[in-house]
Amino acid sequence: MNWEPWTGCYPLSEGCTNCYYYGPHAKRYGQNTIQKTDKFDWPLRRNAKGEYNIKGNKILATCFATDFFLPEADEWRKEIWAIIKERSDIDFLILTKRIDRFPVSLPADWGAGYDNVYLGCTVENQSSADYRLPLFLSYPIKRRFIACAPLLEAIDLTPYLQRVEHVSVGGETGREARECDYEWVLSLREQCVQAGVTFWFKNTGSFFRHDGAVEKINPFKQASRAKELGIDITDGKRLF
Ligand code: SF4
Repeated sequence: MNWEPWTGCYPLSEGCTNCYYYGPHAKRYGQNTIQKTDKFDWPLRRNAKGEYNIKGNKILATCFATDFFLPEADEWRKEIWAIIKERSDIDFLILTKRIDRFPVSLPADWGAGYDNVYLGCTVENQSSADYRLPLFLSYPIKRRFIACAPLLEAIDLTPYLQRVEHVSVGGETGREARECDYEWVLSLREQCVQAGVTFWFKNTGSFFRHDGAVEKINPFKQASRAKELGIDITDGKRLF
């Protein structure tokens, strides 16, 4: 289940070049205009019986069509943190490319972090990993994961894996998408094996290089194609 309290974004780094939400979506919906949605307070809404509309024990993917740490949302984020605190029965899964803005608008009672926040730092290449991940590890966050997406080159994550729970990897989707090389994916998997971290090959991307050739894969088949390779490491945990 996704919760988008605001909409809109704009490119930050190389991984954003072909962002679906920024490209065609932007033309159609004005995606580069950052604004609150009508779901802003959705987790707190109740039905006629006074029960929350969204029941507990769920994972809410939060701001997956924008960025949680956009500067334009700094004031709104204070309210969102309060909502997240109130709904301690829901796990909020947050992904960001702007982890360096994490301290801005952090609640005074954040302490070592809220138990129900699972924060993912997105990296697409070695330079973004080497800039974002030391910051990511330096902040008080209880549950961390790394999302390598869209994977644009081989990445060495070994200096950063000790204090993360999970790594996900995905290729880029779209007509202009850059290739995702299976060797890069397997290297990341091996790093996760060595570090004892769970691993999810989420999708192949549109142009998947393996066995000396590039396979073009329909967007609706990229996840199943990745899954059939059978390289996920779940350790009995639920991957998301
Ligand atoms: S930060 Fe994320 S949502 Fe924003 S433009 Fe980049 S890829 Fe798209």
